[in-house]
Amino acid sequence: MKVLTPYPGVIHVIYSEQTILAKAFMRMQEFYESAIPGFKGQQFTRDEFKKAYAEIMGTEEFTYYDDWGGFNVPGDVANKFMKLFTLDSMDEESLMKSIKQHAPWPPYKPFYVIGTFESGGDSIIDHELSHAFWHLHDDYREMMQGLVEGLPVRFRARLKRELGSMGYCEDVLDDETAAYLSTSSVLELDELVNRTDIPWKHALAFQRAFRDYLESKSSDSQ
Ligand SMILES: [Zn+2]
Repeated sequence: MKVLTPYPGVIHVIYSEQTILAKAFMRMQEFYESAIPGFKGQQFTRDEFKKAYAEIMGTEEFTYYDDWGGFNVPGDVANKFMKLFTLDSMDEESLMKSIKQHAPWPPYKPFYVIGTFESGGDSIIDHELSHAFWHLHDDYREMMQGLVEGLPVRFRARLKRELGSMGYCEDVLDDETAAYLSTSSVLELDELVNRTDIPWKHALAFQRAFRDYLESKSSDSQ
């Protein structure tokens, strides 16, 4: 496990394996944004979540550790999680320790935690960075929110439906819409909306806006 702080306020935890990444982040992620009733903002055990997830996915086996390869949690939620939960494994413990070590000082400064794994690819990192910028920077969020509002109504509704069925709660749908449209490949987008016609001009505007923002932040931090 490796920890980077690529931009101010962004703590990026990188794992060698997807399974360990997902084990470490799962409860904190679901505490933040679970769409499964009874988990968001609540205290729960790993077994309780495992059971509910398998039920909702309609699978006998628990597939979460293979289903998810990128994680994102706002700093204030990470802090609440640490106060409320008894950590249940070495994986959770070492993740929380790294967050504490890298969290900004003084403690009221906002930060954001993202988690990826080594062979996960750049598009996952960019996706999670989009979430971090959305939470940390008003100018990014306002720009992306504007692009989301400008999407054709039917496409936006379709995307919301798909994201909802993937397990995202209502509050994060615009944030996810921005992250998916600005950082996914053509194939990934096509798969996400099940070959509904994608308004490419709009998708391109998201991608350009993200690239430009990333570039401006990279030159800031040099
Ligand atoms: Zn996301």
